[in-house]
Amino acid sequence: MQLRFIGCGDAFGSGGRSNTCFHVTGARVNFLIDCGASSLPALKRQGIACEAIDLILITHFHGDHFAGLPFLLLDAQFSRRTRPLTIAGPQGIETRLAQVMEALFEHSSKTKPRFDLRIVALNPEERQTFGAVDVTPFPVVHGYSGGPFLAYRIEAEGRVIAYSADTEWTQTLIPAGRDADLFIAEAYTFDKIVKNHLSLKTLEAHLADIKPKRLVLTHMSDDMLGRLDTLPYIAVSDGMVIQV
Ligand SMILES: [Zn+2]
Ligand SMILES: [Zn+2]
Repeated sequence: MQLRFIGCGDAFGSGGRSNTCFHVTGARVNFLIDCGASSLPALKRQGIACEAIDLILITHFHGDHFAGLPFLLLDAQFSRRTRPLTIAGPQGIETRLAQVMEALFEHSSKTKPRFDLRIVALNPEERQTFGAVDVTPFPVVHGYSGGPFLAYRIEAEGRVIAYSADTEWTQTLIPAGRDADLFIAEAYTFDKIVKNHLSLKTLEAHLADIKPKRLVLTHMSDDMLGRLDTLPYIAVSDGMVIQV
């Protein structure tokens, strides 16, 4: 499989980066992890065929992870998509999606898609299978609005990809990321403790328990982006491709 970072930025456009959106493809899989507001132009800029995407996993309802869906869905409708699409995310996703569709494009939530669109609400620690993709969500801690918040442990094609989502440190990141072939972790700050987010120093203190085979850092603030040359880990950038 390969994972392409379509966008790896935070909510504030730090470093000019696009909002969170990762594209995973393999022999039998084609899916997105998160779909932040800027995702559709970023996908098109990177030459991704959106009509081939089968599944979109959403970690939470903040705009930098979720608000790209109305644009993607409208584009699918107007480009006459026929392939079924599944969107899965935290409880409440059906209501939240209708709300954001209405807010951005009035009446769009009432237009029936031409293609088969399935919206699935996931429960923490309940494994779900979507085609060749097995997904286990883990609850994470990211404040009081925009949740529930889920990290994902994703198994496909004999590999494990884990994504912390946005979260402060919580023990569930250990089973979510344990021994993963690729663990994508938020590193919002270097050592400053910020509520609802993860610092690299905090993450480092728990790495021996998580033991990911490969760790990459995402969702970095200006504080982290100013240290990219000195970091001992791979810090991702928009357009970066990693073989998993
Ligand atoms: Zn975010
Ligand atoms: Zn967030």
